[in-house]
Amino acid sequence: MLSRAPAAILSADLVYVEHRLEPDIGVAVDADGVIVAVGPIDSLPAAPIRHFRHRALFPGFVNTHSHAFQRLIRGRTLTVPAHDARADFWSWRTRMYEAALALEPQDVGAVTAYCYLEMLQAGITSVVEFHYLHHAPDGRPYADPNTLAWQVIDAARRVGIRLTLLPVAYHRGGFGRPADPAQRRFLSPDVDTFLTRIDALRGPLTGRPGARLGLAAHSVRAVPEPWLDELKAYARAYGLPVHVHANEQQAEVEQCVAATGRRPVELLADRGFLDARTTVVHATHLSGTEKALLAGTGARVSVCPTTERDLGDGILDATGLHARGVPLCLGSDSQVQIDFFAEMRCLEGHERLRRQRRNVLIARGEGERSVAPAVWEAATRAGADAAGLPVGAFVPGSMADAVTVNLNHPELDGGLPRDIPGLLLCAGGPHSVSEVLVGGRPVRGPEGHPLEGEIRGAYRALCRRLWG
Ligand SMILES: [Zn+2]
Repeated sequence: MLSRAPAAILSADLVYVEHRLEPDIGVAVDADGVIVAVGPIDSLPAAPIRHFRHRALFPGFVNTHSHAFQRLIRGRTLTVPAHDARADFWSWRTRMYEAALALEPQDVGAVTAYCYLEMLQAGITSVVEFHYLHHAPDGRPYADPNTLAWQVIDAARRVGIRLTLLPVAYHRGGFGRPADPAQRRFLSPDVDTFLTRIDALRGPLTGRPGARLGLAAHSVRAVPEPWLDELKAYARAYGLPVHVHANEQQAEVEQCVAATGRRPVELLADRGFLDARTTVVHATHLSGTEKALLAGTGARVSVCPTTERDLGDGILDATGLHARGVPLCLGSDSQVQIDFFAEMRCLEGHERLRRQRRNVLIARGEGERSVAPAVWEAATRAGADAAGLPVGAFVPGSMADAVTVNLNHPELDGGLPRDIPGLLLCAGGPHSVSEVLVGGRPVRGPEGHPLEGEIRGAYRALCRRLWG
């Protein structure tokens, strides 16, 4: 049943529907970029057809965890100082704070636009920004306390990527520990001040195409327990997605147990923080009890495999969570790599290394099952739930966010339609992506993005100033 007349029909040699590539399928889209029908082209009502030749059309990827400014330190944290024998997450964090302290508002805009451009070129059409850089370099709020949030919103608008902005509550350096001076740009003195800042964003972002609001607690170490109640109540009242980092590091788990007698996910569950609107980021080091708690609440896990590998975090029990029905989604997090084909590959691949098995993240069901649907689901539809966005699949009511894959690329030579998702899972990458559409409209063609020169130029100038 059509809700509205289509303004256009998107098609390609092959279209990815219900985790299969099929020929002769059309995606009918209305004037607002909403999908109104999907099916054989000759069954759809007449509308201008935009057919992508030699292409396969896939739903755009949904990136559920991003700190855009961290793109600046990619490749710059691969040394160990002579006086410090150890490099780990915590030493990386010190370098990351140095970058965070150096940025003026226009710099935040420049690096965010550059990072989002790289995402869009790689087929990511929605991004969830875990935004904790709030204040001026001296730690004082800007005259408009959301100045840096607006830089992020504007960068996403310029690039044309869909954004869920999560302003992040951050208060202290750890359990019973005041904040470190290097964290001064992140902090709120109390939860009311933080929520007042969210209030000021809520009105302008309501109904704004291309951007929506959520919120986040940085972690159980960075916010006092009662804040979790306030944040969750606010998110419930306004229907916002809510995210939290948890269990990324063993040290964080140990400190949480020492301070509270509970592990982080146990504490979050105790506080009623976990439900179907909640996304737990990382969940690398979970106990059996914590896995069961996640499964019982409907919360999902955002896994960031290329970052977790880069930081030496560890490997989560992906198959254990998958088997319990905990949805997994994916994030590029520290931007060490912006490539969702690689994130999908690592989600499955890390689990193979850990378990010494093959083909572990398979969809549930009868008969022969393959890896591709489950990891593609993590990269698209499960991510849409984390972002609180109607995207991630070609179904009526969803936004027509899509990427085309070039079927003429040599790595796909000889591939039958049923082989192509697997070929891409093994060796695909940003080079596989041709056109990118957001809300049915092309935002990037095979020749590139219209603002690419300008955005790259501003980013290079920023890097020269910071590192040159
Ligand atoms: Zn993060």
